[in-house]
Amino acid sequence: MSDLKLYNTLTRDKELFIPLVPGQVRMYSCGPTVYNRPHIGNLRTFLWSDLLRRYLEFRGLQVKQVMNITDVEDKIIRNANAAGKDIKSYTAPFIDEFHASLAELRVRPADAYPRATDYIPQMVELVEKLKERGHTYAADGSTYFRVSTLPGYGKLSRIEVDSSSDFTRIETDEYEKENARDFVLWKAKKEGEPSWPTEIGEGRPGWHLECSAMSMHLLGETFDIHTGAVDLIFPHHENEIAQSEGATGKPFVRFWIHGEHLNIEQQKMSKSLGNIYTLAEIKEMGYSPLALRYALLSVPYRTKLNFTRQSLDDAKNALERIESFLLRLDGIVTSAPADAAHSDGHADQLIGKFLIAFEEAMDDDLNTAGALGALFTFIRDANTAMDAGRISAADAAGMRAALTKVDGVLDIVPRRDENVDADIEKMIEARIAARKARNFAEGDRIRDELLARGILLEDTPQGTRWRRK
Ligand code: AMP
Ligand code: ZN
Repeated sequence: MSDLKLYNTLTRDKELFIPLVPGQVRMYSCGPTVYNRPHIGNLRTFLWSDLLRRYLEFRGLQVKQVMNITDVEDKIIRNANAAGKDIKSYTAPFIDEFHASLAELRVRPADAYPRATDYIPQMVELVEKLKERGHTYAADGSTYFRVSTLPGYGKLSRIEVDSSSDFTRIETDEYEKENARDFVLWKAKKEGEPSWPTEIGEGRPGWHLECSAMSMHLLGETFDIHTGAVDLIFPHHENEIAQSEGATGKPFVRFWIHGEHLNIEQQKMSKSLGNIYTLAEIKEMGYSPLALRYALLSVPYRTKLNFTRQSLDDAKNALERIESFLLRLDGIVTSAPADAAHSDGHADQLIGKFLIAFEEAMDDDLNTAGALGALFTFIRDANTAMDAGRISAADAAGMRAALTKVDGVLDIVPRRDENVDADIEKMIEARIAARKARNFAEGDRIRDELLARGILLEDTPQGTRWRRK
């Protein structure tokens, strides 16, 4: 196996990834702010975070992944008030939809989903530590982080910090991307806002504080990987570093990994621009969640992805090619020994070449385009070998196993619903029986009925196969 290299925003370099504790990776992924339904841009980010975890596991590492749910924040409060609800009941359906969308996209659950509102004591403790170490000041009941007290401030975003300037404080969580500002850690109670009575006054946490407190509580003061999309580099992640390193004096995160956005007509898909698609809308357009998964994965995570209907059509075609290939392999595995072609070792070479190409692509900062390229080269070469009768049943089983191994990471092989499949198989058997009895009208009727259910039949020398349209 070659070495795994990941692009670290901190050093602006692809670096060799080795976990701090041998064999174990601790990873934090900034999760959703649940003030609205998740859109497919958000889903792209969560999808590649899971892909990273899966690939680390493929390489034999044990991974603990934590993803926060920001359930108290300016926009949530504003929307909940407008809807006349408290934040818990306002956010609940969005949290449910977030989990449901990820499950449909085959994103595996993280090990923990801490919610900001459950970690108020840890946040307060962190502010107190920062206060002891001279990084804070209070104004109007709120507590701020004084950026000029931390020499390394700006190292992630490479933002200019002019230490002679008098920093303006900023009350909101999101501010202009150009300026280093003193930012709010703890916001004083305001009329119509949820608040908690604490040692640092009655109020609520700033967004950045939430992630520092929860990540360090669950993963330790220094951990391996922190993920998010590029819009989080500044101010969110810069401020997380300031809070965490300011409080502990230790390095917070070793690898900062940021993915590019999903764009639509060359603009970032975002709730505020209103140019969003949800997974439900993609399904209404007639595409499966798997097609979306494929389309999102087909572009490496650090490349901007311009979302189009064409990308979903391409994904659908690619999935069909994989499915047809698997059916063809199955045909060889189950064929009678006399029909099975002979093995000449060619299949093992193809498998070896495929696995090496897949790993090399993924080792290169998760080059998913390269990984899929390796897969389709393998399928093409394997089909040629099958055409030439060079693939035995054992070869076909080996090829299937190689594909299953890679699919543990990519997870793009269409899965069949067993109940529905059993029903289809029964109809196919009835059609074969009808044709044997020379009742071709009945055979055609069954074929048409299956077609109406979106099932295409293919009669091959090895028997009848089916696939979804
Ligand atoms: P939010 O729910 O807005 O806090 O976003 C959750 C995650 O999705 C964050 O890591 C964002 O940076 C990311 N995100 C937001 N918009 C996009 C987009 N258009 N493409 C990719 N990731 C996005
Ligand atoms: Zn965060």
